[in-house]
Amino acid sequence: MTLRVAILGLGKIARDQHVPSIAAVDGVELTAVASRNAALDGVPCFPTLDELLAHADLFDAVALCTPPQGRQEQAIAALTAGKHVLLEKPPGATVSEVRPLETLAREKGVALFATWHSRFAPAVEPARAFLADTTIRSVRIEWKEDVRKWHPGQEWIWEPGGLGVFDPGINALSIMTAILPRPVFLTRSDLSFPENRAAPIAASLAFSDSAGLPVSAEFDWRETSGEIWNIMVETDAGSLTVADGGKRLLVDGAMRLDQPDREYAGIYRRFAQLASAGEIDVDLSPLQHVADAFLLGRRHVVEAFVEA
Ligand code: NAP
Repeated sequence: MTLRVAILGLGKIARDQHVPSIAAVDGVELTAVASRNAALDGVPCFPTLDELLAHADLFDAVALCTPPQGRQEQAIAALTAGKHVLLEKPPGATVSEVRPLETLAREKGVALFATWHSRFAPAVEPARAFLADTTIRSVRIEWKEDVRKWHPGQEWIWEPGGLGVFDPGINALSIMTAILPRPVFLTRSDLSFPENRAAPIAASLAFSDSAGLPVSAEFDWRETSGEIWNIMVETDAGSLTVADGGKRLLVDGAMRLDQPDREYAGIYRRFAQLASAGEIDVDLSPLQHVADAFLLGRRHVVEAFVEA
C-alpha cells in the first residue's frame, strides 16, 4: 500500500532531498504540503500545520522538515492526529523532549522515525562490518565546511537549539555511533562562539570508550577551500577512511567503494517499512553526544560572524 506523505516546511532540505526522493521511491507519494510562504505545483498546499491536519484524509504521514526548535510541538500535533511522523535530524532541540514522542506514537500505534540521513550513506554499513572484525587503535573525525555556502540565511541555526556547527557535525556523530563496535563517551569539548552568536562556529572534541580508545573530532564552519567530511580509523587491519560524508570508503588509501548519494531514498524506504508495521526507530545517541559537548564545553569567544 502506498504511504501518502505530507511535508511540513518547504525549505532547503525539503526541496533538495525530500521532494525528489519521495518521487523516486516506490510505495511513497507526496500528497500534501504545509508551508508558511511557499507552494508546490500539483500538490495541495496549506499555510499552517493546523490547516494541513484539518485535511487529514489526504495523507497518512508527516515529514517534519522544519528547524529543530518547535518541531516537538509539531510532532505532537501530527501524532495526536494519528499520523506517522518522520523527524529530520536532529530529532529535537533537547534530548529529553523526544522520549514523550515515542510514548505518544506507541499509544497511537503509528510510526516515529528519527532520521539520521548520513547513516544511509553507502560507505557506512561496509565500514561497520570492517570494524566489527578488527582492533581499533584510534579514530579521527574532520567535518569542515563553509557555513555561508551550506546554510545561507538560516538564522535559526545560530539560535539556542539550532546547534551551530553541530548541525553538520551531528552527521559525523551519527556515522561514528553506527560504525564503532563499542559506545564512546565525551572527555573534552572546546567550543568557539562568534562574539555575536548563540551557537558555536567550531568545536574540538575528544571521546574515549571502555578500552581507552582515543577518538578526536574537529568541526569547523570556517572552511572555505571545500568540504572535508571524513572519518579516519586506524586498525590492526589497516587505515579505514569513510570519506566525502560516507560516499566513499578507502582502506590504506585504496578505494573500496565510491557511490552516489542516495541517502534520502533509503530514508523513505525505511519510513514506509516502519509505517506499515507501526514501529518506532529513534536513536538519540548522536544528539546525546552534542548535549554532552555543550555540558563539558569550554567556551572560547571568536570573531563575530556576519553573513554578507
Ligand atoms: P531551512 O532551509 O531553513 O528550511 C526550514 C523550513 O522550515 C523553512 O523554509 C520554513 O518553511 C520552515 N519553518 C517553520 N518554522 C520556521 C522557523 N521558525 N524558522 C525557519 N524556518 C521555519 O532549513 P533546512 O536546511 O531545510 O533544515 C531543516 C532541517 O533539516 C534541520 O533540522 C536540518 O538540520 C535538517 N537537514 C538539513 C540539511 C541541509 O543540507 N540543509 C541536510 C540534512 C538535514 P516554510 O517557509 O515552507 O514554512
